Amino acid sequence: MTGRARTTGPADDRKREKADVNMTLAPSLSAADRCDRCGAQAYIRARLVNGGELLFCAHHGRQHLPQLQEKASEIHDESDRLVETDNTVN
Ligand SMILES: [Zn+2]
Repeated sequence: MTGRARTTGPADDRKREKADVNMTLAPSLSAADRCDRCGAQAYIRARLVNGGELLFCAHHGRQHLPQLQEKASEIHDESDRLVETDNTVN
């Protein structure tokens, strides 16, 4: 009974597991990755269509996102990790 209160349902748990696997396969950003603009820890990586790569912190990533979405072939956004840690008050 005590353990059940936390889980929302078996279907939701499955979705979660799958997302976690995808996260592990995708190249994730580490503390060694730094924002190209200010040197803070990078949470957003954009792969440009010309092959280049840009790293941004959550702040600058958000600021440049509209332009990046036009120029980048792929945007890897981990900035929600910041929000998650903020929201764990429950
Ligand atoms: Zn920055």
